Amino acid sequence: MVMTHTLGYPRIGARRELKFAQESYWKGQSSREDLVRAGAELRQRHWRDQAALDLVPVGDFSFYDQVLDMSFTLGNLPERVRGFHGDPLDNYFRVARGRSAQSADAGGCDGVAAGEMTKWFDTNYHYIVPEFDAATQFKLDASRLLGQLAEARAQGVKAKPVIIGPLTYLASGKAKDGSDRLALLPRLLPVYVELLAVLAGQGTEWVQIDEPILVTELEPEWQDAFSVAYRALDSGAVKLLLTTYFGPLQENLSLACALPVQGIHLDAINARNEVDQLISILPPDRVVSLGVVNGRNIWKTDLGAVLDWLEPVGKVLGERLWVAPSCSLLHVPVDLANERKLDGEILSWLAFAVQKLEEVRVLATALAQGRGAVEAELAANRAAIASRRTSQRVNNPAVKAAVAAIVPELGCRQSPFAQRAVKQAALLNLPRFPTTTIGSFPQTSEIRQVRSQFKAGTIDAAAYTEAMRREIARSVVEQEGLGLDVLVHGEAERNDMVEYFGEQLDGYAFSQSGWVQSYGSRCVKPPILFGDISRPKAMTVDWITYAATLTAKPMKGMLTGPVTILNWSFVRDDQPRAVSCRQLALAIRDEVLDLERAGVQVIQIDEAALREGLPLRKSQWQEYLDWAVESFRITANGVKDETQIHTHMCYSEFNDIIASIADMDADVITIETSRSDMELLDAFDDFKYPNQIGPGVYDIHSPNIPTEAQIVALMQKAAERIPADRLWVNPDCGLKTRQWSEVIPALTNMVRAAQSLRATV
Ligand code: GLN
Ligand code: ZN
Repeated sequence: MVMTHTLGYPRIGARRELKFAQESYWKGQSSREDLVRAGAELRQRHWRDQAALDLVPVGDFSFYDQVLDMSFTLGNLPERVRGFHGDPLDNYFRVARGRSAQSADAGGCDGVAAGEMTKWFDTNYHYIVPEFDAATQFKLDASRLLGQLAEARAQGVKAKPVIIGPLTYLASGKAKDGSDRLALLPRLLPVYVELLAVLAGQGTEWVQIDEPILVTELEPEWQDAFSVAYRALDSGAVKLLLTTYFGPLQENLSLACALPVQGIHLDAINARNEVDQLISILPPDRVVSLGVVNGRNIWKTDLGAVLDWLEPVGKVLGERLWVAPSCSLLHVPVDLANERKLDGEILSWLAFAVQKLEEVRVLATALAQGRGAVEAELAANRAAIASRRTSQRVNNPAVKAAVAAIVPELGCRQSPFAQRAVKQAALLNLPRFPTTTIGSFPQTSEIRQVRSQFKAGTIDAAAYTEAMRREIARSVVEQEGLGLDVLVHGEAERNDMVEYFGEQLDGYAFSQSGWVQSYGSRCVKPPILFGDISRPKAMTVDWITYAATLTAKPMKGMLTGPVTILNWSFVRDDQPRAVSCRQLALAIRDEVLDLERAGVQVIQIDEAALREGLPLRKSQWQEYLDWAVESFRITANGVKDETQIHTHMCYSEFNDIIASIADMDADVITIETSRSDMELLDAFDDFKYPNQIGPGVYDIHSPNIPTEAQIVALMQKAAERIPADRLWVNPDCGLKTRQWSEVIPALTNMVRAAQSLRATV
């Protein structure tokens, strides 16, 4: 027998039922009971999906976020929401989403700030950051877990409660007073001990305890804390399966193996080469759970290849071997069966959560009973794998040849920045403190309506183009009225900055319901990069050149960069990310050159997601940055000196990567700084960053309208750090989520601020 299990399952539902239930509750359109019922139905359905497994996760479901759930289980609520008299579920949502004092659902209370959100390791899932200070106390509230366990038991589910381990929990949080989070461990551990005892009291045999920080570089005191913590948790009441995922354990491998737990889960997708070592040093009574099906991508597993290496492992381990996906399936869509439009050939290469569980079952059956017991499944899998490997839609020899022919000169501008800047200034003739925006203007409901009519076929392409041109014209008129210096077309025709390009590139496919939770009720549907990437024809030139005819001012061309397209897609597992990125770079480079040929003098290439692609281990950052920057340079730097390249990034922490950012050699970089009071600009001192910078002065995430005085003050701070002749004035990011009624006054103040700066600084 080989045990099968999963670390977690997507909770949103195949049709995003959870999203709709949450949002309707938040809007007051449905009751608490409706929401609770929707949650119970989803859990029931998802447990049914997992029924073939030997152990099924319980407690991985969440009404918002599993880290926030853990904070509530541990009684670690931020001070500002303690003493709330209403429903605990509402209090939970107050931490998750915040409440403004005016809002109807504030429940008579003052407003509260939402908890900070950040990315869960290197995934695109955002969790609510636990808040600590030196006085933080913990107190068990096991009600959520006990409720779900009771439900599971009633449904005959072979339950394995899932919790976040104490060290990953502490490491994921922030000490608001700068105190040492680790100092809280002695207070935290008794609550975990109590929780495990409570779970044992419910007849639980195994508890899954997630410690993914074991795949990151740990300070010695954090390593030591692991031994302390797990000795404290080793009561014999329940068996602990310590799960690690998203990477190899490396220097933490022996530490993990020495912990007094009854089993360890290793991500055998990313750490296959550690399996032998793990087995050789782990005490012989421990369970080895191997994550052999990728929980982060949407490709079918090559089951034959996995069995080739797993069968000998199975012989050694016998009943000690468990088989699972590499990590929680939270990061993949639910079920391929709902895809009606995907091309049949591509469909045959894919596996979503339901299909991945079936792969786990097939592998375990083959291990236990021999491959003959699942002959048909293995044959079908073999055929799919072979079809993908040899498909002409995946392999485009011309693209492979173009990537092989890349030479460093491709990424080099003709002259250094100082010389280009002179030529560009002569040509563009901009004032000091030039003003611009980041690209998008409000995506109004009319725009979205026209787009859905076009997609549904109720209006034709000509009518769609006409409607979008009207929107572009509107944004140009508004920008002229505002007196901005470098205009944009407004991106009305773009549903999404990655999908828009993916749809026009060969080598991309789109699912209908391949949704993945990003945070709370927000889901994303990453495009699927399946083949060698090429650009059949120009993608943006018609829109930009049309917009340019409407004004005498420079019209900025607007593109998404290769690294961002890559990082926000499901990507190939049959070639390195760097190779896919270079293919994207060549395709977008052609677009840049087409725009230049069409007379566009300023071209912005957004790299919003460059930073989030950084690997979990710092020791691997440079390798990533090298190919990411190279890809950007290939994309951007084929232009003439006179063409001004802008890039945009949605953050401002550049301290640790400033050399690479400078190496991209964009003429202008616009970044998000309005909330950080320009202090983060310190990273950009002259030596480290010689080119031009537009530090954001308008927080586009907020409905607040910045005043002229606030903007002037921010820019003065910026001018203390960066010479004024290298500064631009612009918002933090695109304006697509705002209303025109907010954008107009905000940009009016921004332009006035620039005028006053020209007169005074
Ligand atoms: N050009 C894009 C926009 O304005 C940039 C968005 C982003 O960086 N996330 O919408
Ligand atoms: Zn941005």
